[in-house]
Amino acid sequence: MNILTEAVADIATPRSYEIRTFGCQMNVHDSERISGLLEINGYIPADGDATPDLVVFNTCAVRENAANRLYGHLGNLKVIKDGYPGMQIAVGGCLAQKDQDTIVKRAPWVDVVFGTHNIGSLPVLLNRSRHNNEAQVELLEALETFPSTLPTKRESSYSGWVSISVGCNNTCTFCIVPSLRGKEKDRRPGDILAEVQALVDDGAVEVTLLGQNVNTYGVEFRDRQAFSKLLRATGEIDGLERIRFTSPHPASFTDDVLDAMAETPNVMPQLHMPLQSGSDTILKAMRRSYRSKRFLGILEKVRERIPHAAVTTDIIVGFPGETEADFQQTLDVVEASRFAMAYTFQYSPREGTPAAEMEDQIPKEVVQERFERLVALQDRIAAEESAKLVGTSQELLVTNNAGSRGEQTGRLTGRAPDNRLVHFSIPQGAQTPRPGDFVTVPITEAHPYHLIADPTEPTHYHLRRSRAGDAWDRAQADSCGTGSNAPAGNVNLGLPSLRIGAR
Ligand code: SF4
Repeated sequence: MNILTEAVADIATPRSYEIRTFGCQMNVHDSERISGLLEINGYIPADGDATPDLVVFNTCAVRENAANRLYGHLGNLKVIKDGYPGMQIAVGGCLAQKDQDTIVKRAPWVDVVFGTHNIGSLPVLLNRSRHNNEAQVELLEALETFPSTLPTKRESSYSGWVSISVGCNNTCTFCIVPSLRGKEKDRRPGDILAEVQALVDDGAVEVTLLGQNVNTYGVEFRDRQAFSKLLRATGEIDGLERIRFTSPHPASFTDDVLDAMAETPNVMPQLHMPLQSGSDTILKAMRRSYRSKRFLGILEKVRERIPHAAVTTDIIVGFPGETEADFQQTLDVVEASRFAMAYTFQYSPREGTPAAEMEDQIPKEVVQERFERLVALQDRIAAEESAKLVGTSQELLVTNNAGSRGEQTGRLTGRAPDNRLVHFSIPQGAQTPRPGDFVTVPITEAHPYHLIADPTEPTHYHLRRSRAGDAWDRAQADSCGTGSNAPAGNVNLGLPSLRIGAR
């Protein structure tokens, strides 16, 4: 019996589930796969405040005190589980991979522990645990099923994530990823393109290619230009309007990738490229094999070829040994780079990483003070860069999240081609877009990390209805129980689907 059929055998009464996700985009994507896998095995999403039959923790080992926080959550849940017979708790993700079976020793009320390499086993482990009435722990050191071949429940009908690789061959001294997710494993280009096609057939107009290190894609099958070829091939997929990718490594950023970005019209003018530090001494200590000059050189070329590209980055402040002069170099590179946004982190030691063992750890108050200076600088730059967009016209992909103030302001939200967040209003009498449709609007106001578009005339507002908007309508109809004859479903098997009817 394979994993899916063994699990399908026990679905007479649908069990409800809830997933609590911690950590990075890779984990968010894994959680979509966990949802898809559970739903194809008869589980249903838990309803509002009702106690779920199953709680899955998709954990992250990167954050400080991750383990303590997990055991805190598990402790709270034990009280609920004690009063709710039949409830199950599963723990997966990086922390589960790292701590292995210590989780069931410290929290014996946990039913299943599964690793980053065996998400596909979860339904079967849950069944076995119920059947045998004992905890099941399964952690594989190597990946057996590529995560993208598992079913997925996508969070939005218009946009999807597609893994192109997992793991990483680099050894950045602050990072736990290589020891948890293993060496880079590349998915075959044909499989990736088939999954993108399946998403597009299902209504998606935007796809983000995902990997720890997207531009080393191909290292496994020894093709140094594999990522640029993949970008160009993805660009050929009919109906796919927006392609994004995250994250490239500056050391492996080659001109063929830049050419593919500039010459493929549906690759969006956006680049997220982690800087981490502007000091060459610190980059060396981090074992990042590029230097600040190379980083700035890449940005120069990107802006030459793609003038409107928005560049975002990650920066760590207070790495062991960072002097004031090193930090000043980071500020200098940030000033020169003109990032649209930077994810800034205060360094703190992560158990199991080489940097945690380094001498010269920087006192917390010094890290905090530098961090505040960096944030102030980046906020100023972001505000200046955003202000340049006032008066321009932007085509937005309308999202299904109007933001926290949407109800109050009556504005909807979309993403510009460069991925900037834009809150826009609809002129009186104009048609309201559906999530997944496109609107073209003038930018009327700028804030550091979002823009406002309040078109005053109906002629300043242009709506373009899309297949993704149609898919949204179908999903709404399905969730209301009114049904639909359309071929799209919520759970996508990650495999090419038959195209039915005209698009
Ligand atoms: S490139 Fe460095 S930071 Fe990124 S996943 Fe690999 S080891 Fe971690």
